[in-house]
Amino acid sequence: MTALVWYRNDLRVAWHTPLSSALQAHQRVRAVYLLCPGQWQQHEVAPLREWYVLHSLQELGESLAGQGITLDVVDCGDFDGVGDALKAYVVEHGISDIYCNREYPLNEKRRDKHAVEALRGLPVTIHGSDDGVLVPPAQLRTSEGKVYTVFTPYRRRWDQWLADNPPARPAAPDTSRKAGFSCELVQRQLERCEADPSMTTLWQPGEGAARSRLQEFIQAGIGGYQRKRDFPSLSATSLLSTALSAGTLSVAECYSLAREAEGDAGSREGIKCWLGELAWRDFYRQIMSCFPRLAWGEPFRTDTRFIQWRRDTAHFEAWCAGRTGVPLVDAAMRQLLATGWMHNRLRMVVAMFLTKQLFIDWRWGESFFMRHLIDGDFAANNGGWQWSASTGTDAAPYFRVFNPVRQGERFDEQGEFIRAWVPELAHLSGKQIHQPWKYPGCAPDYVAPIVALSGVRERVTEAFRAAQALAREVQHEC
Ligand code: FAD
Repeated sequence: MTALVWYRNDLRVAWHTPLSSALQAHQRVRAVYLLCPGQWQQHEVAPLREWYVLHSLQELGESLAGQGITLDVVDCGDFDGVGDALKAYVVEHGISDIYCNREYPLNEKRRDKHAVEALRGLPVTIHGSDDGVLVPPAQLRTSEGKVYTVFTPYRRRWDQWLADNPPARPAAPDTSRKAGFSCELVQRQLERCEADPSMTTLWQPGEGAARSRLQEFIQAGIGGYQRKRDFPSLSATSLLSTALSAGTLSVAECYSLAREAEGDAGSREGIKCWLGELAWRDFYRQIMSCFPRLAWGEPFRTDTRFIQWRRDTAHFEAWCAGRTGVPLVDAAMRQLLATGWMHNRLRMVVAMFLTKQLFIDWRWGESFFMRHLIDGDFAANNGGWQWSASTGTDAAPYFRVFNPVRQGERFDEQGEFIRAWVPELAHLSGKQIHQPWKYPGCAPDYVAPIVALSGVRERVTEAFRAAQALAREVQHEC
């Protein structure tokens, strides 16, 4: 009897429950990755992210081969092709057990349901694990038995649950055997991949690089995380989002290593704060899993369905290109375009700017981010956008609007970050750089702001109130 480890967004060998369980229970183990380039297209996966996944897959194939496990990469087209491809594979290789990690967005759940249906009648058992999160979705419930939709009480319960159920490292796989790995399909796919070579040099795919980065961050970065994380020019965050979303690194390993470092008293606040980010990650995955309507573009807060977002393509294009005339927003968007990544504080600033100052539909921004981010992750991206647009769970209240000039003065006081990404402003002083329009002629090559920054809160408040009134009216009619 042969066991199969079905790899998805968990491209690693260590801290991998399905692999460990398969090796413990079976003499013969194979692994498969069902490649779905058509699905990547439908999900607007950025070319840079495809590049990261394909290279990580190559590394995974080699690591598994070193442990006697063959990784087959099978082209399924898109999720619709997965059921038949899996069934054919199971029959061809005499698979008795499939081990995999659960995934929570709607299309992934549907894919898995179809796969189960396709396998019906075959003598095969499926074993699911939840390595993608620290606390499985819907595990934590309020006193009324409901799923948490507010972060702070969720975080409290999350901390408690993990203190009672600390993640344990799954047994390490046996390393005495050897197998082969042929990566022709991955190679062909890489040749088709349109990632910009100037960006790929910035990133290192694979489990080895991810683990080194984690160790480096725990040793040298986590202690100062709480103090420095909001300042984009300091590069003081872990930069692990890509590894976590593709699963080249396990979130349980991150949690465990961070907790081990708590012995150093000077690091405690930084560690607590960083673990809070891992809690946000779990929280948004839980929301995505328990509210599948989010997967078809619905806002979490149903009254905000009635908001009349502006459909101004010229303003949207200026935002996409980093040419809004608002320095911090433009610097952030240019960082995204040049590197495929953006600092968290800036993601909030540009998302608020798009949805509040420009009053453009958050879904436009969500989609643009997915098409460009190397760490594009449906749950975290949707959560971040809905938070910024005030349409989501636990969202920023609609009357609280970030002023991008104030944000710049606060988190990029001397303008180092802006200077690095907006050369038209590089010669300006720390005072001038946040509002060049106040100093006529100081930056002749830089665009004038495309929108007035005053009166935004009033306009947004009015639009949200109008939407709420409409929602009440519609409810009343029903
Ligand atoms: P660190 O600050 O070191 O945090 C550690 C890890 O915690 C991150 O790697 C990430 O996995 C997780 N995390 C941190 N903040 C959040 C958060 N707010 N929500 C969920 N998880 C979090 N994160 C993504 O991974 N993919 C996305 O597509 C994504 N889109 C976003 C869109 C918007 C509009 C906003 C406001 C946030 C988005 N985030 C997204 C969350 C956050 O910005 C990134 O995870 C973070 O900037 C990644 O940098 P880091 O790895 O250095 O994070």
